[in-house]
Amino acid sequence: MSKVLVIGAGGVGSVAVHKMAMNSNIFSDITLASRRIEKCDATAESVKARTGVTIATAQVDADDIDATAALIARVQPKLVVNLALPYQDLAIMEACLKTGVHYMDTANYEPRDEAKFEYHWQWAYQDRFREAGLTALLGSGFDPGVTSVFATYLKKHYLDTIETLDILDCNGGDHGQHFATNFNPEINIREVTAVARHWENGAWVETPPLSHKQSFDFEQVGVKNMYLMYHEELESLKTHLPEIRRIRFWMTFGDAYLKHLEVLQNVGMTRIDPVLYEGKEIIPLQFLKAVLPEPASLGVTTKGKTNIGDIATGTKDGVQKTFYIWNVCDHEEAYAETGNQAVSYTTGVPAMIGAAMLLTGAWGGAGVFNMEQFDPDPFMAMLNEHGLPWQVKELDAPLAF
Ligand code: NDP
Repeated sequence: MSKVLVIGAGGVGSVAVHKMAMNSNIFSDITLASRRIEKCDATAESVKARTGVTIATAQVDADDIDATAALIARVQPKLVVNLALPYQDLAIMEACLKTGVHYMDTANYEPRDEAKFEYHWQWAYQDRFREAGLTALLGSGFDPGVTSVFATYLKKHYLDTIETLDILDCNGGDHGQHFATNFNPEINIREVTAVARHWENGAWVETPPLSHKQSFDFEQVGVKNMYLMYHEELESLKTHLPEIRRIRFWMTFGDAYLKHLEVLQNVGMTRIDPVLYEGKEIIPLQFLKAVLPEPASLGVTTKGKTNIGDIATGTKDGVQKTFYIWNVCDHEEAYAETGNQAVSYTTGVPAMIGAAMLLTGAWGGAGVFNMEQFDPDPFMAMLNEHGLPWQVKELDAPLAF
């Protein structure tokens, strides 16, 4: 029975508080705070209608450490779940340290003016969280999050060591729009247009954005093109599973998405540096976000499924083996349950589960942790129980590419 404060009332925040309300034995008291209180109130209404649970709402600018600390002091939660944007991570961690409260998020800190996706800013908080006796759990979404736990689950139960790991993220959903992103457009486009990087033989290998393509037959989705990308869990997994020789991340994109993105990039609309417009500085990517559909609005029209998983090759009792572990999530089912499409659902459910791990004491400790540093079993059990069932199978051979 614990109080939780969730910050960020977007698609992910909405799914997380719906699922928390469905588990009121763990989350006895829920407050949802965000920049615009009307978004929190709309989510609270939906939670009440779907689950019968009343949640509290509040307005906060989470960039303002003192304002967030004052909110935490008023609400008195045991844990703050940060589902705002990566820009707010450090400010919310500071507010947690100020008030003596545990912290959790789903995406690593990003400075507004650089697309870096690096953990060092948050890992630098290690000593302060340890000395305060508090836990900071980083990246409890799907990727990072479930994909990291999948890796440790394979290592615990199927392989003695992992030599190569490939994370495959497929969204086979169709939202019926010419161009839209399934989570925050600014973060999504920064990620997709970044230089691709993977870890191989002790070094990062860089390739131009979206320059490496492979096709893969995803169960319940079909054959899709996927592209080599950088993704933040590569850094934490290669740190915490140091035996991994090669680790890569792949994401599927349709041709229409890529064509729109190419044009937007060519005309400068994805830039994150300020440009002067009618005497005022604007960031083109932020303006683009303002004209694109809100990810939360896509749920009503999105059909199809996501399929995200890990393929690991390693040895078991001296024999080389390859295992594939994955989850399939249906957009329409996710929408029927929570009013949000599967990309928000596949992030919001693990956010609820990560929070449950900390609040029940299944995971914990003083310091800053990534998902793969904990026992995967209780988290994996909750995935099966709360809408993200997974499967494992042995493949005949390692990936051929
Ligand atoms: P949205 O943009 O839909 O929601 C973000 C919410 O945070 C909005 O309600 C926004 O308010 C609020 N917010 C923004 N700035 C502030 C601030 N300064 N103070 C308070 N609230 C603020 O994003 P998503 O829900 O799609 O994503 C949420 C997080 O989840 C992001 O960090 C994203 O990177 C991460 N994510 C992680 C994934 C994973 O698998 N690990 C996958 C997908 C997303 P307003 O509505 O007023 O703009």
